[in-house]
Amino acid sequence: MRILLTGVCGFIGSHIAEKFLKEGNEVLGVDNLLTGREENLGILSGYKNFEFKKTNVEDFVADQDFDIILHLASCASPKDYIKYPLETMSANSKGTWNLLESIKSKKIRLVYGSTSEVYGDPLITPQHEEYYGNVNPVGERSVYDESKRFGEALCMAYYRKFNIDVRIIRIFNTYGPRMKMEDGRVIPNFITQALKNEDLTVYGDGNQTRSFCYIDDMVEAIYRVCTKENIKERILNLGNPYEIKIIDVARIILKLTSSSSDIKFLSLPPDDPKRRCPVIDRAKKEIEWEPRISLEEGLKKTIEYFKRFI
Ligand code: UDP
Repeated sequence: MRILLTGVCGFIGSHIAEKFLKEGNEVLGVDNLLTGREENLGILSGYKNFEFKKTNVEDFVADQDFDIILHLASCASPKDYIKYPLETMSANSKGTWNLLESIKSKKIRLVYGSTSEVYGDPLITPQHEEYYGNVNPVGERSVYDESKRFGEALCMAYYRKFNIDVRIIRIFNTYGPRMKMEDGRVIPNFITQALKNEDLTVYGDGNQTRSFCYIDDMVEAIYRVCTKENIKERILNLGNPYEIKIIDVARIILKLTSSSSDIKFLSLPPDDPKRRCPVIDRAKKEIEWEPRISLEEGLKKTIEYFKRFI
């Protein structure tokens, strides 16, 4: 199969690209390298069935045929999307629109990389796909949340009007090797701080929760959504339902790194979701998938990866 993968130099993008390549598919990867990494490009360039185009997804001209488009291009870490608000909104709105428009009369499947952030600061927990969310439309995080929600609305509009095979994956917190150390997200921050024996920066009181999925589990899920012939559910939560408080993530990382760091408490960023945990019953049924790697096991692998850079 021939795959167009946008955001190919990102953390998840580079891993899923490798999976497609190893399975013998051809991949055209697109990235503007705003937050994606050149190093990931280096890894992928080793595959003969890989091609790369540096461009914004909103400017990409799809003049070739593909079997599948996997649209992951967007800033994804709060630090990045707050720094690049307009670029984030553009990739998710104009970028998604551009891709959908290019395939409206073709038989190309489009898998849209959405996010648990569409649920905002949820008033129900765990979050199932039918929940509409609780998003502040004008807060700092809205550039990401609202543009991802708009991207989902676009996908569904094209599906309803042109019967395109669109699939929306709501990706919950994912971690593992190839995350950027300076990414700003909690796991790279804590591991880097612990390895350098610096204080771990817990925002707020640390009682807010997240549910962390190891990259290998996430790649398997995305691959299955992309390659399954017929699908009943177009919108799927993908993530690990093991929910944990941020303060406990800090404690586990201190233990696993045998670090002498302390924990310091900083103020909580605005609109930081208090609870986040996916219901994954749909994914279990639709793609016969559930995560296999425990948080401790995944953190050990991630710590080993980060040690190389300290
Ligand atoms: N967080 C933290 N310390 C950090 C980075 C993040 O306590 O150094 C918290 C953040 O406030 C949030 C959670 O960890 O409650 C996850 O944040 P992250 O930026 O990884 O992703 P999010 O799930 O908010 O998109």
